[in-house]
Amino acid sequence: MTQGKLVIFSAPSGAGKTTIVHYLLSRIPELEFSVSATTRESRGSEENNKDYYFISKEEFLHKVAKHEFVEFEEVYSGTFYGTLRSEIQRIWDSGKHVVFDIDVEGGLRLRKKFEDDALAIFVQPPSLEVLIQRLGSRGTDSEEKLKERIGKAGKELTYADRFDIILPNNDLTTACEEAERIVREFLFGK
Ligand code: 5GP
Repeated sequence: MTQGKLVIFSAPSGAGKTTIVHYLLSRIPELEFSVSATTRESRGSEENNKDYYFISKEEFLHKVAKHEFVEFEEVYSGTFYGTLRSEIQRIWDSGKHVVFDIDVEGGLRLRKKFEDDALAIFVQPPSLEVLIQRLGSRGTDSEEKLKERIGKAGKELTYADRFDIILPNNDLTTACEEAERIVREFLFGK
């Protein structure tokens, strides 16, 4: 396969998209996760080269200068995230389709770039209040970081209708099953 498809999951942080993406990876062997590069520190059980390529800001900016990113963003002030061209190519070369867990603006940018080869899905949490609760109970961020995430989440919720599909996540099991149905239909037409 020279060029496979792209399945993009975007949502405010805490909406459940990472869990949904992991579920799909366990159910659809033709999918592989696009590992993003980031300048943030690893959290909890996250592994380098598996969850993210954790790199320094200097290295990140060097890659920007060399046009190695298909998209990148300063998602939070001073913290960069980006999708490497080489990552997408690596996955396509192995004969698989790419699945992304990416912020709302990055998701829309990829969708525009790859047109009909991409499906952009917005994971919609029940409400901003529930999102705030979920973010708080993670207990992995400082108070200041948490505030920034919440502020960004409120704005991102307004982007939903720019996506191909809005996937409500009121109940995680239902959302995972629905995501699998949508993705299978997009990839295999069934
Ligand atoms: P977290 O720090 O919670 O892992 O991620 C913060 C946000 O950055 C999430 O919305 C996540 O989906 C997004 N993100 C992760 N990788 C990328 C990327 O390569 N590009 C962009 N634009 N956002 C990303």
